Amino acid sequence: MNTYSAQKNALFHYDVTRDFPVMVRGDGIYLYDQDGNRFIDAAAGAFNVILGHGSKRIAEAMAEQAETLAFAFSAHFANQPALDLADRIAAVSPGDLNNVSFVCGGSEGVETAMKVAHHYHVQRGNADKNLVVSRWRGYHGTTMGAMAVSGSVSMRKATAPLLPAFPHIEPCHPYGCKFAGCDGKCNLTCARELEQAILYAGPENVSAFIAEPVVHSGIAAGVPPPDYFPLIREICDKYDVLFIADEVVTGFGRTGKYFAMEHWGVVPDIAVFGKGASGGYSPLGGVVFRDKIYDCFAESGKAFAHIHTYVNNPVSARAGLEVLDIIEEKNLLEHVTEMGDYLLTRARELQEHPIVGEVRGLGLMIGFELVKDKQTREPFPESRKVYSRLRQIMLERGLSVVCSSGGRDGLNGDSLQLSPPFIISRADVDEIIAIIDEGLGQMEGELGM
Ligand code: PLP
Repeated sequence: MNTYSAQKNALFHYDVTRDFPVMVRGDGIYLYDQDGNRFIDAAAGAFNVILGHGSKRIAEAMAEQAETLAFAFSAHFANQPALDLADRIAAVSPGDLNNVSFVCGGSEGVETAMKVAHHYHVQRGNADKNLVVSRWRGYHGTTMGAMAVSGSVSMRKATAPLLPAFPHIEPCHPYGCKFAGCDGKCNLTCARELEQAILYAGPENVSAFIAEPVVHSGIAAGVPPPDYFPLIREICDKYDVLFIADEVVTGFGRTGKYFAMEHWGVVPDIAVFGKGASGGYSPLGGVVFRDKIYDCFAESGKAFAHIHTYVNNPVSARAGLEVLDIIEEKNLLEHVTEMGDYLLTRARELQEHPIVGEVRGLGLMIGFELVKDKQTREPFPESRKVYSRLRQIMLERGLSVVCSSGGRDGLNGDSLQLSPPFIISRADVDEIIAIIDEGLGQMEGELGM
């Protein structure tokens, strides 16, 4: 059983009520803390350390780049790693998603997408099209614009007065579907809500719709039925609303394809990436958008007023190039599909637990939705803090996973999410499942189930 010490000093942690183990080393799927404890990182950091920890190859490429050219201001210069990485991302992106803009992470990528969309409409004479429709329980980041389109009730609460008011619709969540009559015979009412939201706001005011292909944090690997995104695409096209796919978690192979939208044959107008783009070795995110949007920039002849200091960072770009090389050389997309199927099969064996309502997922994105009552699917109230205790139980057993609440209605509804590094083996999966099995048993015991 892992016990660890925390270190209180000037570093402000986002949750001052918790102790954080101090990590000193990472190697493959493992993290090691200052007390010598080993943790399996089944969350791949924050879903981003897709190739595992301690890659000498990526570290050396970045060190070499830092020595050669660590920085060149993107407002004045280009640099070769950023040029090369943009081409490589365009090459693995579906359809005519051919134009790449880099920033430092997912939230900044979402901000970029929203501004690019607005610029597109302005250039086409539709300056009023500025609202972005999104979904409750979606998560798109913590900056003001990204939080405004996010749908986590608890996270929005703290900053709500500062956020622009954008319309939200119900997410696609078959296990916790809010629409009467849908259960078992889905008529995609949740997708049709988008059309309603656009009509309520007035199509002349709506710029874009943003959604995660598979919702991880908010719904624990909420995978939509096959017709969901094709219908979303149709509705967006009908009202000249751009479709932004937030592929920050799903992009770069997490579901077995470079971009998860490929599973449904849907090409978004803008895809946001981040997380896995650098394998967690350096801050990197961005957007890739369609040629029709690029043409608007070209025709307007206007600069895009959106420059961060670290845009096109050459060291981050070198990390990104190594990541794509490694994915290709090691056939990791196939490995993700194979290991994802195995992990889902093994994880579904745990549905026997009274606390496990449903296990679902796609590729190496697996979610356990936890319930108080399996028959009625009633969740635990948030006040029980099941997610928080479960995270602690797993950590003590040497497993780092993401546990959250809010999956059912934005506040209540606990889940455990798995998103291990792509290099995971069958033996690793077996070890993770054994720990979760025991940890869930302990949790049930503590809850008197
Ligand atoms: N979009 C999604 C789907 C995410 O899961 C996250 C972060 O978890 C973000 C955007 C924000 O990314 P970042 O934390 O890198 O700003």
